[in-house]
Amino acid sequence: MTIPKEYDPHIIEPKWRDSWDMSMYHFDWKDNSRPQFIIDTPPPYPTGNFHIGNSLNWCYIDFVARYKRMCGFNVMFPQGWDCHGLPTEVKVEEIHGITKNEVPREEFRNMCRELTVGNIEKMRQTMLDLGFSTDWSNEFVTMEPEYYSKTQRSFRKMYDMGRLYQSDHPVNWCPRCETAIAFAEVEYDSRETKLNFLNFDGLEIATTRPELLAACVAVAINPEDERYKQHLGSTVKVPLFGHDVNVIGDRDVDPSFGTGVVMICTFGDKQDVRWWIEHSLPLRKAIDKNGLMTELAGKYKGMTIPECKQAIIEDLSNEGYLYEQQSLEQNVGMCWRCDTPIEILSERQWFIKIDNDEISKAANEIEWLPDYMKVRLDNWNNTMEWDWCISRQRLFATPIPVWYCKECSEAMVAKEEWMPIDPTSEQPPEACKCGCKEFEAEEDVLDTWMDSSITALHVSGWLTDHEMRLPTQLRPQGHDIIRTWAFYTILRSMAIQGKKPWDSILINGMVLGEDGHKMSKSLGNVISPEEVIKDYSADSFRQWAAIGGSPGSDVMFRWKDVVSASRFFAKMWSIYRFSMSHLDEYEHSELDVSELKVVDKWLLSNLNRLIATVTDSMDKFQFDEAFKALRGFTWDVLADNYIELVKARLYGEDEAGKKAARYTLYVAIDALSRMLAPFAPFFAEEMFSRLGEGSVHVQSWPDVCDSLIDAEVESSGEFIKEVASNVRRYKSESGMALNAPLEKIEIYGNLDDLTDVLGVTNSPVEMMDGEPDFEHVPVNVKPNMGIIGPKFRGQAKAIINALTEANPKRIADEVTKGKITIDVDGESIELEPECVEIEKEVVSAGRSVDVLDISGIPVVIIR
Ligand SMILES: [Zn+2]
Ligand SMILES: [Zn+2]
Repeated sequence: MTIPKEYDPHIIEPKWRDSWDMSMYHFDWKDNSRPQFIIDTPPPYPTGNFHIGNSLNWCYIDFVARYKRMCGFNVMFPQGWDCHGLPTEVKVEEIHGITKNEVPREEFRNMCRELTVGNIEKMRQTMLDLGFSTDWSNEFVTMEPEYYSKTQRSFRKMYDMGRLYQSDHPVNWCPRCETAIAFAEVEYDSRETKLNFLNFDGLEIATTRPELLAACVAVAINPEDERYKQHLGSTVKVPLFGHDVNVIGDRDVDPSFGTGVVMICTFGDKQDVRWWIEHSLPLRKAIDKNGLMTELAGKYKGMTIPECKQAIIEDLSNEGYLYEQQSLEQNVGMCWRCDTPIEILSERQWFIKIDNDEISKAANEIEWLPDYMKVRLDNWNNTMEWDWCISRQRLFATPIPVWYCKECSEAMVAKEEWMPIDPTSEQPPEACKCGCKEFEAEEDVLDTWMDSSITALHVSGWLTDHEMRLPTQLRPQGHDIIRTWAFYTILRSMAIQGKKPWDSILINGMVLGEDGHKMSKSLGNVISPEEVIKDYSADSFRQWAAIGGSPGSDVMFRWKDVVSASRFFAKMWSIYRFSMSHLDEYEHSELDVSELKVVDKWLLSNLNRLIATVTDSMDKFQFDEAFKALRGFTWDVLADNYIELVKARLYGEDEAGKKAARYTLYVAIDALSRMLAPFAPFFAEEMFSRLGEGSVHVQSWPDVCDSLIDAEVESSGEFIKEVASNVRRYKSESGMALNAPLEKIEIYGNLDDLTDVLGVTNSPVEMMDGEPDFEHVPVNVKPNMGIIGPKFRGQAKAIINALTEANPKRIADEVTKGKITIDVDGESIELEPECVEIEKEVVSAGRSVDVLDISGIPVVIIR
């Protein structure tokens, strides 16, 4: 068989990518004979760019999916697309040069759909190029009716359970996105702001939000604060606006902050909401949904929040209310999509009740990998104060399946059999309880997490004809969405099915740039997987993913890892090519261990240890350990030693020895191609294509054969390896060709199989009993110039001459006695033994020999 000298991934990878029958990766819904392994794959947001962070996460998933399939599991590695959301709306507005309100609702939604379809195609291509074993028969697209009808049905089910309700409640609001957002979507960052000190009708208060004066509903002090106690229960007039508010006491007021007096507004922050509820304060709305000041703000009406702030500060100052300003570092909540500071507004919204105990219980039943990631969920779960706000004031999302009766305003929630439904384009087929048939559609839509939090339910067959297979086995995801995606999925799975969504959750880290910073366009350190594929290969990219770090920790992208990955494939290819040249017309059949040489057994013992290590690491998702073990074996054991040791047999005449070597090579190459398959699917397929029938990806994972792991055989093999390398070094130091024969090698040890020592040294080898009988004969005296020179100066040259001419044996005898005496120009001179070095020749049985000490065993070489 002809195998190209070089491995060219740019030919091999597209060849397999285009010819693979992807149905080999399909999950078999009807099969219950094999254990299931369902992966709750993240549905990425279709930006059109499957970035390096996605790619790393998906490499991990693919390693697991391929490994589990080979281990006999019925694996589902589905792929979803989480389509809805603001970024697509913004992009559509940008592309078409419109704002969402300039075109009809449905038309705008269609533009979003169109953009999404194109983006999915682009990302799908990257996935195919990276060689993922995706089960495309289980693809889902959240904007498609088949999927979002499930989102809507889950809404109805939870409504019926009483776990979903509508209420006027303060919510986080992004004035830029013009929508409510959930607490999980608020990100805190510290910003510098001004603390304004105001004369407040006899009290002095400090506030960072003077623009909310119109929304002031109370002034609060700590009831134990002696300075202000007497004001409790009194009323004060709000500066500029003139309405009266009560002075109330609350222990949460920090007397050491500002003046110790605070104003409570609806709503400056989360603490205002707490006080507002606790003290049953009235509601004053000074900011509207667009982030503009309302009627209540009087002359400031219509201003943006920053405009209003500036105007009010000027007025407070002009009218003598403002007496001091201080800089203050403040933690500000911001919209995670657009970084705009969020406002807290009270609006009628839909909420899902959060049962923290239920979530905690489920989280405890799930295996967290790495385990410390669970703390992030627990911390979030333990500090939740509000329910999950699920309504959004956007367009491109799953419609909330609700209408309101025009007569009695009662909400009519669509029945499951009417779904999918868009209430803005269809009226309910039934009349209201009051008899009225006229309805107002709910125009709000659902939070996209409402779609994505049912992925585990969806992939396990929920609301289909298939048998329900919850819990799934694995959820792989990033640590940045533990409090959203992981949290909501647990919540929904427990609420709807009363079961945990997954057995295990595997958290992966972020990819950092080569400079150690998070990749970002502004830092210019962004690497795309396509670049790596183009310059090297998909398999090299995957090898970087395997070896770059372990799941859970952030992983740095390094080109040098990709380079060493491609070098590994070049090395593996040369091993493979060499092996295959000896496996032409080889028919594989089991061979009895007795027919193997010790070196073969040594390799197989190491190979089985390797299989055990790699299997164990794969089970623990320690891909770096697994791949490092594979690389180490291939390089150090197979290439540098085994192949060198058995070359003579492979090229030789002894058929039995040749057969054993070919058998061993075949077994090793076959096992390596299988173990490389999860990591390097293209390369492994190319290897396997000349070894067996069908794709390597439907083969079984190699089993460990314990009986082949043999410590004694290993130490014999190690010894032979040492003999080979020592003799090789000996020849090279003696200026001999490596294949030059020696007259004889005598080994004073016990090795019953000399075949490969003979082969690799190309010399006769004999095992010897007992101890070698050596005589060390002095043959040369080397004067030590460094000592003689400085000590004897003018005489040095003559001394050196005398030493070199002296009888080496006599000088050696004198050295042992501690003093050397020589004649120099008739003068007798005494020298210390350090002044010379005696070169000796080893003589054994009257022949001059060289002796190597190999692992404590004398090996005598006769040239
Ligand atoms: Zn926003
Ligand atoms: Zn009605």
